[in-house]
Amino acid sequence: MILAVTMNPSVDISYAVDRFKFDDVNRVETVRKTAGGKGLNVARVIAQMEEEVLSTGVLGGTIGDYIVQELNKSNIPNDFLKIKNESRNCIAIIHEGMQTEILESGPTLSKEEGTAFLEKFECLLTTASLVTISGSLPKGLPTHYYRKMVEISRNKGKPVIVDSSGESLKQVLIHEKKPFAIKPNTAELSQLLDFEAEAGIIDLKQMLNHEIFKGIVVSMGDKGALVRHWDDYYQVTIPKIDVVNPVGSGDATVAGLAVALNRNQTVESVLKTAMTTGMLNTMEAVTGFININKYKQYFDLVKVEKID
Ligand code: ADP
Repeated sequence: MILAVTMNPSVDISYAVDRFKFDDVNRVETVRKTAGGKGLNVARVIAQMEEEVLSTGVLGGTIGDYIVQELNKSNIPNDFLKIKNESRNCIAIIHEGMQTEILESGPTLSKEEGTAFLEKFECLLTTASLVTISGSLPKGLPTHYYRKMVEISRNKGKPVIVDSSGESLKQVLIHEKKPFAIKPNTAELSQLLDFEAEAGIIDLKQMLNHEIFKGIVVSMGDKGALVRHWDDYYQVTIPKIDVVNPVGSGDATVAGLAVALNRNQTVESVLKTAMTTGMLNTMEAVTGFININKYKQYFDLVKVEKID
């Protein structure tokens, strides 16, 4: 079973209006609400690939209850720690061809809740074969919290994929017990290493040469990915496709990576699977959804090349 962690889930609300009026009342007829958060997208795609998954993390209040209901409706097994404060809403207003977002930062966890989740996590690990950790940390938890989770998992011999950014990702990487893989996109990697996001493949490759990286998939949107696996480097190229909604494609990539690793596939096949699930997500309107019937067709179009 793959354990998919989301520490700051949300209910994502999308309001569609013809014209967004400032300093006035906006009445909305078209409302869409979904259980959101990167780790929930990962769990959904893993389930669509018919791999066993358990979604975990922390949630609270009626928003937390709604998230559980939605997961249950989609048949995603879940076991979250209930916290005292209410989980968050993230609002996207679609108007005049634009998207204005209002993102709550989410609940603050107490020290006790932080400790309680680590205990729960350790317990859930017993039946897990692989762990994914996605998204930001909620307020109240130290930036080395993911590092602790990686350490606990590694001590139990369970590989971890981390998809986060900023200080919590840095903390994970400078530790001696590293995750099996990380999946920054180019912008996240440039923030981490303080370089220009437009760096070419050669520069990128040189940066990945750093000892903190052993397993890293740098996703590059329509340009595919650059990968370091121990001392080997791979460039992964993908076909041109019709993009409907790219939101969540990084999460779908993590899901593909997790499923293929869990199935002990070859490096080439793992990378092809991850790129295929990423691409399939961009071809759908719904975030965290892939049309599995198109899987084989697109898998065959992904090219993996080992580079010097
Ligand atoms: P994130 O969602 O984390 O920003 P990326 O935008 O790099 O991640 O996308 C992750 C993966 O999804 C890519 O490596 C690729 O496989 C697929 N993908 C994303 N955008 C596109 C696109 N415009 N065309 C084709 N594939 C895409």
